[in-house]
Amino acid sequence: MNKFLTISACLIFMATASAQLKPRPDAFPPVDEPEPKALTMATTVAQMSNWDRYPTYSVYVEMMQKWANDFPNLCRLDTIGTSVNGRLILSMEITAYPTNPTLPEFFYSSTIHGDEITGYVMMLHLIDTLLHGYGTNAQYTDLIDHTRICINPLANPDGTYYGGNNSVQSSRRYNANNVDLNRNYPNPFTDTKPALQQENSAMISYFDRHNFRLSANLHGGAEVMNYPWDSYTSVQNPHPMSAWWIDVCKRFVDTSRTYNANHFNDTYSCGYTAGGDWYVITGGRQDYFNYYYNCLELTMEISTTKKLSSNQLPTYWNFLQHSLVNYIEEIHTLFGGTEHIAEVADSQHLSVYPTLPQVISSSRVPTALQNYMMSLAA
Ligand SMILES: [Zn+2]
Repeated sequence: MNKFLTISACLIFMATASAQLKPRPDAFPPVDEPEPKALTMATTVAQMSNWDRYPTYSVYVEMMQKWANDFPNLCRLDTIGTSVNGRLILSMEITAYPTNPTLPEFFYSSTIHGDEITGYVMMLHLIDTLLHGYGTNAQYTDLIDHTRICINPLANPDGTYYGGNNSVQSSRRYNANNVDLNRNYPNPFTDTKPALQQENSAMISYFDRHNFRLSANLHGGAEVMNYPWDSYTSVQNPHPMSAWWIDVCKRFVDTSRTYNANHFNDTYSCGYTAGGDWYVITGGRQDYFNYYYNCLELTMEISTTKKLSSNQLPTYWNFLQHSLVNYIEEIHTLFGGTEHIAEVADSQHLSVYPTLPQVISSSRVPTALQNYMMSLAA
C-alpha cells in the first residue's frame, strides 16, 4: 500500500468515524426498522386506483405497459436493463415531441435501495398524473411540451421483491448479490473501483443514450434534500452550484411544508444538507452522475419510514406532488441554457478534487493525525 492509499484509507476511516455523530438512516450498515403495520398489495391494476397500495411486480410491469398503450403520443416505455435475477428495470419517457433533439432531458429514479419504497409509488403516481393532466393542467402540459421527462420508478427490483413478486414485506436494501447499489458506482476519490453490478452498468449505459441535465434519486429513511457532494464535506470541497442547490432545495421543502408544516424536519430543521456534511459516502450515484455526466443529480430522502404503511401513501403524495413536479421545472431555470450548463460542468470537474493538503488540513482531521499524514506525504 503506497502513501497515498494509506492516507486515503485514513481519511475514509475518519470520515466514517466522525459521521457517527450524526446518524444517517440511509447509512451503511442500514438501520433496521420495526416491521410496518400494513403493506397492502394491489394484485390488479384496478386496485391501484386509490394509490394506497404497493403493486405486485406483475402489476407494476402491466401499469407501465398500459400507460404506453393508452398514451402513445405522450410516452414510450424503455428498458434500462435487467436485474441480476432478470427483473425489468423500466423507464417511462414522457414528451409530446419525442423526435425533437433540443428538448432538455430530465430523469427521476427511485428505490435503488430496495426497501425504500415510498418513492416507488410516488413515481408511478407522478407518471399517471402527468399523462392524465396533459391538455387540461397548464403546468403539466407545458412541461410535457418542452421537456423530455424520463421516470424509472424502481431501480432495484430484486431488492424490493426479495421475498417474491407478490409482496414488498421482505424488501431489502441490497440487490441479489448482497451489494448496496448506491455504494457501487466508481468514485474518483478511491483508487479501488468496485465491480459494477449489472443494475448499475445498465443505468450508466442508459445515461450514455441520453443527455440528462437534471435528475433526482429518491430514497427513504429520512426526510431531507441531500445535494452534492456526498464524497466530501462542504468545507473540503463545496459543489460549484451550492447556492443554486440550496435555492432548489428550499423551494422543494417550502412547497411541501405548505401541505404539512412538519415535513422534512427529522434531520435538519431547514430540510436540506450538503450530502457529505450529513455523512460522507463513496460510490454513490449522485456524485457519479454529477461528476462524470455533468448531470445535476439530487438525492431526495422523502419519508422517515422506509417501508411506509400503504395507507400513508396518499398522504405523502399530497405532501410531495407539487414539489416533485416543480423540481422537473427547475431544468428550465438553469439560466443561460446548455452553454451555461457546459460551464458548470467544467467547474464541477475543476473543483471536484481537493488537493491533499486541503483534505489533510480540514477541520475534521485531528491535529496529531494531520501531522502524521503530512509526514507520510512529505
Ligand atoms: Zn437509500
